[in-house]
Amino acid sequence: AIEFENVSKAFGAHRVLVDLDLQVQPGEKVTLIGPSGSGKTTVLRLAMTLEKPTVGDIKVFGESILYGTVGRPLPRSQEARIRRRCGMVFQQFNLFPHLTVLQNLMLAPTTVLGQSKEHAEKSSFEYLRMVGLESKVHAYPAQLSGGQQQRIAIARALILKPEILLLDEITSALDPELAGEVLDVVRSVAHETKVTLLIVTHEMRFAREVSDRIVVFDAGRVIEQGPPDKIFTNPESDRTRAFLQSVL
Ligand code: ATP
Repeated sequence: AIEFENVSKAFGAHRVLVDLDLQVQPGEKVTLIGPSGSGKTTVLRLAMTLEKPTVGDIKVFGESILYGTVGRPLPRSQEARIRRRCGMVFQQFNLFPHLTVLQNLMLAPTTVLGQSKEHAEKSSFEYLRMVGLESKVHAYPAQLSGGQQQRIAIARALILKPEILLLDEITSALDPELAGEVLDVVRSVAHETKVTLLIVTHEMRFAREVSDRIVVFDAGRVIEQGPPDKIFTNPESDRTRAFLQSVL
């Protein structure tokens, strides 16, 4: 579903990603871990076409973000098409504060996908049920806890039926108990849907439970990757071991 080929990304003189090769297969659940500032979020932003690589190419659904050898940016229509097939949830909940839960959920299906109100409302209820918040349908975001807001944000991303869901530290702003309820929702999404998941998290236990593969970043490079059991119990790299010791 996503292929990074020899990708580097710099902001000015600061090289944030260096020679990244990474493939994510359709349906695969992949989690990126590593120290703060090692480039994990930048990988998600590149996959979503929110950033352009400085060097190298990224293919999302087989479409090259820099097309051909000329390195011209993707035309807007193609960019919009890729973004529509990807959903992203961020650390901050980003719900529209002046809209109710139902209005937040219905907005994109009616405006972007051109669904009828009836259709959008019906599927809003479906996804609210999935995240266990049907009872909050008429609430405003400010009336919800952070964990509930984040669960709504997940429902709002899923309602567009993305093929890839990108989750960027979605529990970092939450107290542990609220983080737990959000992670439960992601766990059920991982187990019950075919969506490809690309996750950045500092919750190592969750990463271990939900992922098919863990990719360890350090200073803009992948230092190691493999199945969770291997990475967490028997890593090859000393730097992986040091990182895990610092967070576990
Ligand atoms: P964290 O776990 O703290 O979120 P991360 O591994 O996700 O870290 P990134 O957010 O990808 O790391 O950032 C990598 C580096 O790139 C950081 O040093 C950050 O300051 C820098 N960076 C990211 N975006 C920009 C930008 N738009 N302009 C300049 N520097 C940036």
